[in-house]
Amino acid sequence: MNLLVLGPQGAGKGTQAKRIALEYGIPHVSTGDMFRAAQAEGTDFGKQVGAIMESGKLVPDELTIAMIADRLSQPDAQAGFVLDGFPRNLAQAEALDAMLSRIGRGLDAILFFNIPDEVGMERALKRAELEGRADDTPEVIAKRLEIYHSETEPIIEHYRATGKLVPLHADRTVDEVWSELSDSLQVVA
Ligand code: AMP
Repeated sequence: MNLLVLGPQGAGKGTQAKRIALEYGIPHVSTGDMFRAAQAEGTDFGKQVGAIMESGKLVPDELTIAMIADRLSQPDAQAGFVLDGFPRNLAQAEALDAMLSRIGRGLDAILFFNIPDEVGMERALKRAELEGRADDTPEVIAKRLEIYHSETEPIIEHYRATGKLVPLHADRTVDEVWSELSDSLQVVA
């Protein structure tokens, strides 16, 4: 099953994506996690993306798309994947469409986590306190939200047009969202 989770920070995408990965035995592919791992390794690539992440801006498309193309070609992703944090703009969405159609695959569902800005901001700020991520300062959180609205939101319409968009009420508890989400996956799985 090829899935994608889409929505602003603080919407609970990562939590639900991890649970989907466990339930369905498919990898959780998070570009943010991959960039943070590269940063922790301290490679040149890691240093380059680390500086970008700490500003809240997007890592250049060429780097991100190449990283995802490589990840999705790995053996563990052949039975499916749940993509989290990618695509973040229309160019990435189109690159993903092309990548998947070249190998005769497609997305089964795009899970859209719908949540008011204030709730997402509040949750992201709370996570910042708990996890102490370097890119989780209030300024960077606000920058990421601004970029979400300008760059990422347009891809919702791109995916709505495919008929595979599944809007979820993400402003609820983890278990409530999981219940709605797993019911919709029963239909596509
Ligand atoms: P996240 O953990 O998804 O919030 O991502 C953390 C940071 O990694 C973002 O603020 C971006 O700087 C970078 N990043 C993650 N995914 C992407 C992507 N698909 N395209 C460009 N930059 C990304």
